[in-house]
Order: sequence, then C-alpha cells, then structure tokens
Amino acid sequence: MGHKFSYEVEQFVDTPDDDLICVICRAVLRCPVRLKCNHVFCKECILQWMKRATFRISNEYLHISSCPYEWQLCPHEGCGQQVLRKDAQAHDQSCSHWRQLCPMGCGTLLVRENQAQHNCYRELQQRYVAERRRQRAIAANLRRKMQRMQSRMAQIRRQINLMCESLEVGDLEIEEGEGTSAWTDANAARIVHPKMKITCIFVYSPSCCSKPV
Ligand SMILES: [Zn+2]
Ligand SMILES: [Zn+2]
Ligand SMILES: [Zn+2]
Ligand SMILES: [Zn+2]
Repeated sequence: MGHKFSYEVEQFVDTPDDDLICVICRAVLRCPVRLKCNHVFCKECILQWMKRATFRISNEYLHISSCPYEWQLCPHEGCGQQVLRKDAQAHDQSCSHWRQLCPMGCGTLLVRENQAQHNCYRELQQRYVAERRRQRAIAANLRRKMQRMQSRMAQIRRQINLMCESLEVGDLEIEEGEGTSAWTDANAARIVHPKMKITCIFVYSPSCCSKPV
C-alpha cells in the first residue's frame, strides 16, 4: 500500500530507523498518529485501514489482542524472529524451526523433515488391515485342521466298525470295569478279543454292537 505523498525509504540518504517506518505503507511515517496500543501509523494509512477493518479504537483490548501490526516473537524454539501478527501464519509455514505435536494425538513431534511423510492415521489403518488379514489366516488354518481331524475321526470310526464286524460276537468278553454303572454312564466298554488279544476302547454305537445286559 502506498499513497500519493508517502516518503519512500529510497528517498533518504541514510536508511531511516525502523521506528520511523509505517508498517502499513512501509514508507517513512507521514502525519504520524499513535494508537492506544502505542502503534504509530501514517494518519491516512490507519484511517484507510480502519475503514476496511471496521475496527473500533475504543475497544482497546480487542485491538491489542488482534492488532495485525503487533510484533510477536515466533513461538518456535530457536527461531527468535519477530513477526507481525498478520504475517505470523505465513512465517509459520516457512519457519525452519517449526515443530508441532501430531494433531492426531499419536505423540510424534512433527518437524519440517517428517511432516509430509507422517500419517499415523494411515499407518494405524494399515496395521489394522494387516492384523485382520493375519487373524483370518489363523481362523482358516484352524478350520482346515478341524476338517482334517473330523475326517480322521470318521476314518477311525469306520475302522472300529469293521473290526467289530470281523469279531465273532460269541467270543467277546466284556471286561467289567468299575461296575455296570460305569458302562451305562459312559456308554463305553473295553472289549477284549481272546484270540487276537485286541483291546479297543470305543464309543458305544447301537449299529455296531448291542449293549449287553
Ligand atoms: Zn503509512
Ligand atoms: Zn495496534
Ligand atoms: Zn520462526
Ligand atoms: Zn501422528
């Protein structure tokens, strides 16, 4: 911004002191006026700016906490640069000392170098997907094992049935275990074939042998 009769810095033989520069037009102050916040501007500059910003000088507090021409120390450790409030955002984006905790709350301290790559949400999502894939693989593996066990059990049952059929029922001796109640409760018995000396423990099945009385 500049106005018709501004004193441009270049017009001076010696570079004018910073205190004499209007931060709005960046020229040497012309008809300087001082606000309550001690900021000095060219009269015309501040009047124009007030018209644009519709700000009230009477609202001193509001102005002090929002005055765009207030110098502020860059909040990032090690920077030490003084920045006008209105330029703070632009400086923040270029400040080499910028650091911030990840806004997603993962606890990572973000700096310029890792900010672009850091995406903890995506990492978490990837880990979740990988974990689900792993669990599904475990479940599928268990299902396969169970099917193998079931078919092995069916095979054993068939073998027992065949063995029972091949035995002569008359030659069977039923060994009494703990008593008849054990037989009734467990529906199981040890059958000893006297000739073949085969001892088998099997689950009572009516289709195979009939329950002895
Ligand atoms: Zn000015
Ligand atoms: Zn001010
Ligand atoms: Zn900075
Ligand atoms: Zn994060």
